[in-house]
Amino acid sequence: GYPDRLEHISFEDVGFRYGSGPQILEGFNLSVEPGQTVALVGATGGGKSTLVNLLCRFYEPTSGRILIDGIDYRDRSLRWLQSSLGIVLQQPHLFSGTIGDNIRYGKLDASQEEVEDAARLAGAHEFITDLDDGYDTEVGEDGNQLSLGQKQLVSFARAVLKRPRLLVMDEATSSIDTETERQIQQGLARVLSGRTSFVIAHRLSTIRAADLILVIDHGRIVEQGTHQEL
Ligand code: ATP
Ligand code: MG
Repeated sequence: GYPDRLEHISFEDVGFRYGSGPQILEGFNLSVEPGQTVALVGATGGGKSTLVNLLCRFYEPTSGRILIDGIDYRDRSLRWLQSSLGIVLQQPHLFSGTIGDNIRYGKLDASQEEVEDAARLAGAHEFITDLDDGYDTEVGEDGNQLSLGQKQLVSFARAVLKRPRLLVMDEATSSIDTETERQIQQGLARVLSGRTSFVIAHRLSTIRAADLILVIDHGRIVEQGTHQEL
């Protein structure tokens, strides 16, 4: 398998527009050292999700390049990228099936022990074992038997199970009960530590824990630094 850490990321003079729409990014530069947690913050419509969309290669730069460990990611296979990235979306999608199946998605050969270890690391194990059927609980269509916070925990455990070299997370904003919130926070603290990660952060605790905070507005970095510096 792949090692589960490292990855230097750089955006070099990246320009981007959605289709024939307005220029969203222009001459965007960023360099992230291996193991750094970067928190993206800033006003709505500023370009945070766009940066994440580009990093995950849901979209590609219209000019400039994105390098992962010095190599333009378009020169690597999609399979390589897919196996390197752990992605937790703001509105996570789950599959109709059990919680265990959902965590295992993306690493189908994982043992029950590996699934549970990932869930523990992500902070999801507690709520899962509190359910009558534990890991065998059916989540329903799109996971609708679970709360949003629980869905994000399951999706987080799925990302962790892959031992991603790069973790990308868009924190859920909607109301999450305090207990689930606490579990997510503890999971984040464990998982982000020493792992290159991009987090669109809405919570102060995540922002505090980041090595680098980028304030994004109108497709630009308007401020950057640590929580203490800003
Ligand atoms: P929020 O905090 O609301 O999530 P954001 O910082 O993530 O905002 P983006 O979603 O990256 O901001 O939006 C940046 C700009 O790109 C906005 O002007 C937005 O309207 C535009 N945009 C975002 N997604 C698309 C899309 N799929 N197609 C066209 N334009 C888009
Ligand atoms: Mg967004």
